[in-house]
Amino acid sequence: MDDLVYRGIIIRQANYGDAHRMLWIFTETDGIIKAVRYGIRGKKTSNAAAFQLFSYADFKLRPSRGDIMTAVSADVIDGFYPVSEDIKKLSLVTYLSDITFSILGEANPDKRILALFLNAVYAAAYRDEMWQKLKTVYELKLMSLGGFLPKLDKCMVCGGAPEYFSCDKGSVVCRLHHSAGDIKLDEVLLSLMRYISACEIKKMLSFNVENQDVFGRLNEITEKYVRLQCDMEFKSLKYFYVICDM
Ligand SMILES: [Zn+2]
Repeated sequence: MDDLVYRGIIIRQANYGDAHRMLWIFTETDGIIKAVRYGIRGKKTSNAAAFQLFSYADFKLRPSRGDIMTAVSADVIDGFYPVSEDIKKLSLVTYLSDITFSILGEANPDKRILALFLNAVYAAAYRDEMWQKLKTVYELKLMSLGGFLPKLDKCMVCGGAPEYFSCDKGSVVCRLHHSAGDIKLDEVLLSLMRYISACEIKKMLSFNVENQDVFGRLNEITEKYVRLQCDMEFKSLKYFYVICDM
C-alpha cells in the first residue's frame, strides 16, 4: 500500500514496547488517528523532534494490515517548542488535549475543533496570555463546538432572568429554578460566556476585561461544566494545579 500524508498535530503519545512510541495525531481529514513511530526511543533516531508532542506537521504514514499505521517521516510546520520547554505550559496544554480527546474520541473529524486546538497551542507557545484566560476560553469554546453549547439567554424552565449557571443542565436558570451547586452569575460573567461561546475561533482571545479576577470565577464554571458533561476527572488537571503551586 502507498504511504499517505496527513497534516495534523500530535495530541497524545505513549510508550509502545521497549523503544517505540504510539502517537495520536489530530488530523483535519480523519480526526484523531493512531500511528506507531518505531525506534524513536532508541539511541540514534533521526528527526526525533518532528515526532514530539504537539508537533504540527505533514506526517507520512504507512498503512498496515492492522488498524495502526506506521509513522515514516514528518515535515514540520510548527513544533510549538515553547510549550514543551515550559512545564506549566506543557501541563496546561496536556489537559486541553485530554478534554479534547474526551469530547471527540478517535476517527471523528472536526475541522472547527482542530482549529480551536491549534489556536490554543499557538497562544500557549507564542502569546503572553494568562493561563486562567486561555484555559477557561478553551473549555467553554470546546464545549460549545463539541455538542454542549450552553443555553445563555434565559432560564430554561420559565424564561426568566438568568441569575445562575447550572453546569449539569448546561443552561442559565432564574432565582426560582436554581438548585444547590449552581453558580451565581453577574453581568460581566454572563456577557463573557456569551461572547466566548459564540465568537469566531480566531477571535476567542481578542477581548480585554477590566478586572482579571473574573477569569478565576469563569474557570470555576467552565471547569465544572467540562467535568460534569464529560463525566470524568482529569489527572492532567490535578497535575497542572500541582505545577501551579510549585
Ligand atoms: Zn426559571
